[in-house]
Amino acid sequence: MPLYILSFDIEDWFHIFHPAYENNPELWEKLSGRVEENTGWVLDFLSKHHLKATFFCLGWVAEKYPTLIKTIHREGHEVAAHSFLHNKVKNLGPESFYADTKRVINILEEITGNKVISYRAPGFSMDKTTHWAFEILHGLGIENDSSFKSGMYMGFPKKIPNEPFILKGEGFSIREFPTRTFNLLGSHQIYSGSGYFRLYPYHFVKKMFKSFDYEMAYFHPRDFDNHIHKYLNGHLLVSLRYRIGTNRSRSNIDQFVTDFEFRTLQNAIEIFDWNNAKIYDLLNGDNNQAG
Ligand SMILES: [Zn+2]
Repeated sequence: MPLYILSFDIEDWFHIFHPAYENNPELWEKLSGRVEENTGWVLDFLSKHHLKATFFCLGWVAEKYPTLIKTIHREGHEVAAHSFLHNKVKNLGPESFYADTKRVINILEEITGNKVISYRAPGFSMDKTTHWAFEILHGLGIENDSSFKSGMYMGFPKKIPNEPFILKGEGFSIREFPTRTFNLLGSHQIYSGSGYFRLYPYHFVKKMFKSFDYEMAYFHPRDFDNHIHKYLNGHLLVSLRYRIGTNRSRSNIDQFVTDFEFRTLQNAIEIFDWNNAKIYDLLNGDNNQAG
């Protein structure tokens, strides 16, 4: 059975990697947020299709809009963590990463009353140099991660598998759900979410999904906001990057969930055959069941 997971990273339009906005919570406070309205659209859309998804929520958003997180949880979606301040893990040392992750887990658990067991790093910022982060995640009760891109080395001796696998550290393991990439002129490109989904023609994404049994689709609320350019004014290239395809993203995702059967991460965990899963050693990248 194909395993197509649907996920959303719940953050605002200004949680992007750009020097004007990055790591600047004082500025974020002053900007007009769009995350409530755009996530509202996402929730209505999922309800219309009788679909459940996994929501990786930013702690900063949860603190500002607790009712939004409560609604996501109440509507039966999985609430997972996407850091508190949206810093790349590579830019944080172990101590700051621990503090940031603990903070997001605490606030999400306080709001929903449920344990948070899944995590996604901002900007796919995990690789071999951040192997220590997985031990911290494990210590904080995280059992599942979705921060890797597949098909790439990420500093390890072997490529990241193209399917869910087990990351093994010293005395612990975490299930990893990578986002698939394809090779475009020698560089690894994502196609299953966000700006890539907006940029590529839908028939290309559909063709890719049909070719594989495992896919991780991921979106942001801003991917469906066709007024986003009004907010990013003054940054022409950034504005173009986040605006592109927003005029057709709502109809494209509508077709997308009609063409494919999507599920939450939790549901995928239940049906995936973990006995035959690849095991990837965090320190040396050994892939003892690699095919
Ligand atoms: Zn993010």
